[in-house]
Amino acid sequence: MRLSTMTLLCAGALLASVARAEGAPTVVDAAALADESNGANWLAFGRTWSEQRYSPLQEINAGNVKDLGLAWSLDLPEHRSLLATPLVVDGVMYFTGSWSRIEAVDLRTRRKLWTYDPKVLEVAGDRARVFWDSNRGAAFWKGRLFVGTGDGRLIAVDASTGKEVWSAQTTDPKLPLFINGAPKVFRDKVLIGNGGTEVGAARGYVTAYDTETGKQAWRFHVVPGNPSDGFENKAMEMAAKTWTGQWWKHGGGGQTWHGMTYDAEFNRVYIGTGNGSPWNRRIRSPDGGDNLFLCSIVALDADTGEYQWHYQTVPGETWDYNSNMDIVLADLEIEGKPVKALMHAPKNGFFYVIDRTSGKLLSADKLGKITWASHVDMKTGRPVERPGARYEDGEELIYPSAFGLHNWHAMSYNKDTGLTYFPTMELPGWFSDDGIDAATWTHTDFQLDTAVRFTKGDEVPVKMDASSLLAWDPVKGTKVWEVKLPGLWNPGTLTSAGNLVFQGRTDGRFVAYDAANGKALWEFETGLGISAPPVTYEVDGRQFVSLLVGWGGAGTSFGGVVTAQHGWAYREHPRRLLTFALGERAALPPSPPPRIPTPLVKEDFKVDPMLVDQGENLYVRNCTFCHGGSAVSGGYAPDLRASPVPLYLDGFHEVVVEGSRAAQGMPGFRELTREDLVALQHYLRRQATLGANAKL
Ligand code: CA
Repeated sequence: MRLSTMTLLCAGALLASVARAEGAPTVVDAAALADESNGANWLAFGRTWSEQRYSPLQEINAGNVKDLGLAWSLDLPEHRSLLATPLVVDGVMYFTGSWSRIEAVDLRTRRKLWTYDPKVLEVAGDRARVFWDSNRGAAFWKGRLFVGTGDGRLIAVDASTGKEVWSAQTTDPKLPLFINGAPKVFRDKVLIGNGGTEVGAARGYVTAYDTETGKQAWRFHVVPGNPSDGFENKAMEMAAKTWTGQWWKHGGGGQTWHGMTYDAEFNRVYIGTGNGSPWNRRIRSPDGGDNLFLCSIVALDADTGEYQWHYQTVPGETWDYNSNMDIVLADLEIEGKPVKALMHAPKNGFFYVIDRTSGKLLSADKLGKITWASHVDMKTGRPVERPGARYEDGEELIYPSAFGLHNWHAMSYNKDTGLTYFPTMELPGWFSDDGIDAATWTHTDFQLDTAVRFTKGDEVPVKMDASSLLAWDPVKGTKVWEVKLPGLWNPGTLTSAGNLVFQGRTDGRFVAYDAANGKALWEFETGLGISAPPVTYEVDGRQFVSLLVGWGGAGTSFGGVVTAQHGWAYREHPRRLLTFALGERAALPPSPPPRIPTPLVKEDFKVDPMLVDQGENLYVRNCTFCHGGSAVSGGYAPDLRASPVPLYLDGFHEVVVEGSRAAQGMPGFRELTREDLVALQHYLRRQATLGANAKL
């Protein structure tokens, strides 16, 4: 059975290459998505189904990359944060941007063909507060594009016209669930999950829809619901044995907001699942338990969604160490034997290699400083936790932080060097649940509350040299080279047969490295912090590299002071699509220089410390997502310390409570009272003074 599928795939690839030679349009189907050898297009989020982000193209290579230059650029003023991996099919690029919009760009005329706007802000209204404007990409299958929207829809769009074909609501619109991840397609089905673990009592799931009709094909829940309602399947019954207390009242979590990979060889999907809701296991599952299938790779039958196997990276998770990161498939040779491997570097700091035939763990190696666990016991496959790491004895400083040692930023794998390439962040976080009453704690929907404190006042224990680009050998379990990177939240990578690794940086530089040794061979100043991974492809037989430049994503806001250091002031620096080729020397239109916002100090405003505390609590729950940790904007949304709006209560009320700027993406927070706004005013003025005195 397996052999015949493989034969069919190979025959399909052969037919596809014949079709290409005759100039026939590419049909993006199973054969095309399994074909690693065709570098002309970039057909899927991870280029092909393996998600290796490895291009076989070598016109641009380590020997000549010094001659790479800007071929053209396209300004994108209607977008703010650009995180997406663009897709390229036969000379047309498709990418998602702010508010889940899709843009189609003709790579020959270098002009937009169409824009699809799902009108997310109109549909979501005040619910926009939980997702802001991020989107990481679309999927392509047989002439259609698929995009998940911030408000929880999955939409099919005709790739030639940009017209909507169908739309399916994948979430309950009353719940604080959102989509910012890329759907994945396989065998006439399209799979999507959602986010929302931190902003309500949420139960994670993924859903597959028919690509033709938009009808639901299957749904798999990540965590069990209330046993008295009956279990959806045997897997949920098994999972329920690993939970205690009344977990369903808290939702349980496990949102699958990013990593999902289709495996054509086994006709499976692997989903990387989220952390618990709330983070704190003492509240979520008070008598302990592993809490399946949180923080796991779960293998599901692609046709039915039936459970096949799982590997849990963090049993009984309690630090936001989700396993939502990329899942990359490759044939490796381990101890002289060929292995159908799955590679995964989740937040918790370990790099996992799993035999995907069976789900057996082959290795789990530390990528950097980790203090929550000493190692993974290879006999049991379980991490060996360090006493105190569950902050059971009070406040603990733990590596990694809730940002994760690696987050969603793309990992690439180069079969020629045998290395994986991805950015890391080696920094600790404070964890404590002192003062949080397990008996009375409840979720407040649409507000950030994790039942754990994960910062310590304004002390953000962040080293400025915490970030790296890592070249990691998945077979030896060792670091081969490392390049120090600025700030936090550096984006993902692309690798190629030209012995190259490309990566943007938070300081706005776009760099090409020698894939074997990490030597920087080329760089380009883009004029704005980069948050998206690059892609490469051919147009009329010539190789190009493209990159979206548009600072954004949760890390840029939560990072506060650390991400603010670059001076990417909100809306000041042009958002762009940049395209590079050998021998080109186009000039980038000028961008304003970096600018650090100046906090407004109001000398006559008498700050009341009690109100500051109340205001801080409100700020963390409602405003941090976009406006930044400690009220320091990382450039993702306006810096409220520098804004005159909070100075005047009536105007502040109009914007914050009534939502007068909803069309610009600032939803109404209608439950906030006049007293709440006053408390926020006190907190913001205190933070402004600290900032003006360079104490933030
Ligand atoms: Ca999380």
